[in-house]
Amino acid sequence: MDDAAAPPSTAPLDVLILGGGLAGLTLALQLRMRRPEATITILEKKRHPVSEAAHKVGESSVEIGAHYFTDVLGELEHFEQCQLPKLGLRYFFGDGDLTDLASRTELGGNVFFPSRSWQIDRGRFENHLARRCLERSIRFIDAATVRGIELAPRGSPHRVTYAAEGDTRTLSARWVVDASGRAGLIKRKRGLAKAVGHKANAVWWRYDRRIAIDDWSQDPAWAAQGNNQRSRWLSTVHLMGKGYWVWFIPLASGSHSVGIVADEGMHPFSTISSYDKALAWLRVHEPQAASACEGREEQLQDFLGLKDYSYSSTQVYSDERWACTGEAGAFLDPFYSPGSDFIAMGNTFITDLIDRDLRDESISTRTAFYNTIYFTFFENHLSLYEGQMPLFDNAKVMALKIIWDFAYYWTVPAAFFFHGRQTDLMSFARAKDALDRSGLLNRRIQRLFRDWHARAPRIRRTFIDIPGLAFMYDLNRGLKDPLDEPQFMARLAANLQLLSVLAGEIAALAADDLPAAGLEGLSEPAGDGQFRLLGSIVAQLRARPDAASADVGAVAVPVRGAR
Ligand SMILES: Cc1cc2nc3c(=O)[nH]c(=O)nc-3n(C[C@H](O)[C@H](O)[C@H](O)COP(=O)(O)OP(=O)(O)OC[C@H]3O[C@@H](n4cnc5c(N)ncnc54)[C@H](O)[C@@H]3O)c2cc1C
Repeated sequence: MDDAAAPPSTAPLDVLILGGGLAGLTLALQLRMRRPEATITILEKKRHPVSEAAHKVGESSVEIGAHYFTDVLGELEHFEQCQLPKLGLRYFFGDGDLTDLASRTELGGNVFFPSRSWQIDRGRFENHLARRCLERSIRFIDAATVRGIELAPRGSPHRVTYAAEGDTRTLSARWVVDASGRAGLIKRKRGLAKAVGHKANAVWWRYDRRIAIDDWSQDPAWAAQGNNQRSRWLSTVHLMGKGYWVWFIPLASGSHSVGIVADEGMHPFSTISSYDKALAWLRVHEPQAASACEGREEQLQDFLGLKDYSYSSTQVYSDERWACTGEAGAFLDPFYSPGSDFIAMGNTFITDLIDRDLRDESISTRTAFYNTIYFTFFENHLSLYEGQMPLFDNAKVMALKIIWDFAYYWTVPAAFFFHGRQTDLMSFARAKDALDRSGLLNRRIQRLFRDWHARAPRIRRTFIDIPGLAFMYDLNRGLKDPLDEPQFMARLAANLQLLSVLAGEIAALAADDLPAAGLEGLSEPAGDGQFRLLGSIVAQLRARPDAASADVGAVAVPVRGAR
């Protein structure tokens, strides 16, 4: 797919991107929007076009990544015509009959949030992005494997050697960006790898047919909870159990992606490391999922796995004109689908640094600052996952944790990204104290969830409607508001205050099961006994499974906005 018509030039390129996966291709397009005249080349090992469906993992998007693809890069039409809309994240906890989805506590929604997200067929999207690059005069050289990198000190061009069509060739460039995914070319060369204390594994596979999640129960009440639209399959469906979760993600090409993510200590990798073992494991832990997968060998498109998938780095941006983006930098955990978010945030920092450098602006201070912000987001995210997998079967604690984690995500990182403040040093400086306080609050609440888990009783089977919580719907919708700087700061302050009220309400619910000690300072906002934010689900979270009636059911909550 190399654009052979482009005349070879001996002048150093402005930017050379190593790896043309999701991160590399989108970075090239973002750079092109900012620097129409820049010379940009991508070297990609795989030959294009790549296959649809069975290409890469990373198919579910959440708000930042989705907004980056559709609004920042302007690819909404591709998503509307060639990908599937995502009906949010949907969780089924392990508290019911594991052969009947309708008997498990469910957390999700039946309406699309205003800030939309998508299920992404990665092969289809990367083929589209590569074509877009060629249309925009970005040189995309496929079937080209990077063999060597010489990073020069500031002022001299870097040199990269690659193999293509049986030849070895060299390119020089002012900037080199590593987007080689787990190959981590620069990270290895510079010894930047850093371990994280989160040990988990994953396996995944694709069938070339749909899995009809909506047919998994014949219970009419369960169907009615989904507004009888039979659209649960459009969600990223999570089956949650102690130390694991199983995903089901539909793809626009007609395939269905299935994955198991599990804590190494509780479910060793050796128990899921082949298709047969994964099915045997499902029979034990998720029998209904196993039944849905049995007999589909002919439909199987691939089977892949990763042991100990989480890792970090000590640096991702350098004022010596190199950077790492996507999985070439760091990767945490797929639970909240943040991979595309980190690509969006990382590419936005890199685009800004390269743009300023090409304008001969000094970038040293910004480079240091962007490294700090990137790793602050990363560390805050890490606290959501570290030591949290044992909680996964606990419907009460996990429901509140998921609500908290999303409220925090929309209030802080998503807000900075959507409102164009991610490279605005002044906004960060003004908000620093409030952000530090909310970071502390987040770590404290995460600790509370871990402590609470051992003491939280089972709840009666119920359906918790996340978009039905008015404050959640509003937080999500507010991401789309155009805000100038003063409006953004005012919104941030109001939403951080809302987070502290939410923390108080969560603490007040935890006080049902935990001694008050250790909750001081958290319970204050709900001290009047009112649950202004969580009020509509408090009864559901407090109901015990002993009553004769089987179900608390969905609580009807008015939802604002279009359905
Ligand atoms: C189990 C699991 C589930 C996940 N689920 C999600 C999810 O639901 N949502 C989400 O957003 N993210 C998810 N992710 C993360 C997501 O997969 C990554 O964020 C994303 O794929 C990273 O894209 P990338 O471009 O950095 O890397 P890649 O897509 O791997 O691209 C790197 C490219 O570099 C090329 N390359 C490698 N070496 C060389 C070389 N020497 N020369 C030239 N080219 C080279 C490769 O061929 C490849 O095309 C998940 C990750 C895991 C592990």
